[in-house]
Amino acid sequence: MPNQSVLITGASQGIGKQIALKYAQKGATVYINYPFESEIENAEKVANDVTELGGKGYIYEADVSVFSQVKKMVDDIVSDHGKIDVLIANAGITKDKLVMRMSPEDWASVINVNLTGSFNCTKAVTKHMMKARYGRIVYISSVVGIMGNAGQANYSASKGGIIALCKSVAKEFGARNITSNCIAPGYIETEMTKNLSEDVNKEFLSRVSLKCFGKAEDIANAALFLSSDQASYITGHVLVVDGGLSL
Ligand code: NAP
Repeated sequence: MPNQSVLITGASQGIGKQIALKYAQKGATVYINYPFESEIENAEKVANDVTELGGKGYIYEADVSVFSQVKKMVDDIVSDHGKIDVLIANAGITKDKLVMRMSPEDWASVINVNLTGSFNCTKAVTKHMMKARYGRIVYISSVVGIMGNAGQANYSASKGGIIALCKSVAKEFGARNITSNCIAPGYIETEMTKNLSEDVNKEFLSRVSLKCFGKAEDIANAALFLSSDQASYITGHVLVVDGGLSL
């Protein structure tokens, strides 16, 4: 683990940031991806925190939905630092609306960032992982990718697509010692869920068996496990981390 090099997309806040800090505590080298120039300050803060916690933090700008930017980022990382052992495909957005009100643009933008972004990152990193004959890929999907959710057709479809992508990648790259797994979080307290109404929150909470919402750290613990030696014979798996929401 101390020598692992980890690329985390969308790591300037929320779940991605917590994953970065968790790896830092293990002494890993962490590449913190952020999408736009406007996010550079937050990304720099995460990089500093990573270094303070005992890891090494570096920031890389790229919009994951644009393949040329992702390829450049990955090639730059490999040329600057030598390798990427772990990809955490975490970047994601929501544009919630009922299908009747959802525009084709709302549909496309969520699919482009969440699903196409995960594909773009996979395509760019596996080239290097194959040469190294080692790789750990962890996708951040969602329980709604399994269950569906009213008002989230675009998001649910993107997250369900990620599960199918993950399993296909597990089959394609297993022989090169590259594992591919998904985490399907339930309701986790971050910027993404912060603006949901009290009624929606109450409704979710009533369905969570453990009667509390998840923390970004709960997802970070699962990500660390799936990329550790303890998980070296696990591939194509979807690890649900939802306090029982999907039961
Ligand atoms: P968040 O705080 O909104 O973080 C999402 C991150 O993705 C942000 O740093 C964001 O950067 C980045 N991002 C957005 N578009 C991007 C792009 N085109 N290229 C690169 N980065 C981009 O939300 P979160 O809760 O931590 O979510 C992290 C992941 O967990 C997402 O995939 C989400 O779908 C998934 N998830 C979350 C929950 C939950 O309850 N929170 C549940 C299930 C799954 P900017 O802020 O600068 O745009």
